[in-house]
Amino acid sequence: MKVAASGTWFPDEGSRMPAGEVHAWEPGQNQTACGIPLKRAGLHRFPHVDFTDTDPVTGGSADAVRWSCPRCQAATGGRRGGKRWTRSDPRP
Ligand SMILES: [Zn+2]
Repeated sequence: MKVAASGTWFPDEGSRMPAGEVHAWEPGQNQTACGIPLKRAGLHRFPHVDFTDTDPVTGGSADAVRWSCPRCQAATGGRRGGKRWTRSDPRP
């Protein structure tokens, strides 16, 4: 899955990046993974950005992401590694 987002930002180097609210999007589709029509919602396509990279915790393209759609996360199989949902801090 790639990314559709409500905003765009331009880093000093490299490609444009998603900003604001992000959804998962499959190239070729005209709606997000959770069923929002891209045009009607004014979402921009990012076919060069993986949805998993927009995770604010683990992603490398998430600097400007403010909100990541939970329904799209579920549709793409959840967070990579599942770090947010599993407590793994055993104390001695
Ligand atoms: Zn969504």
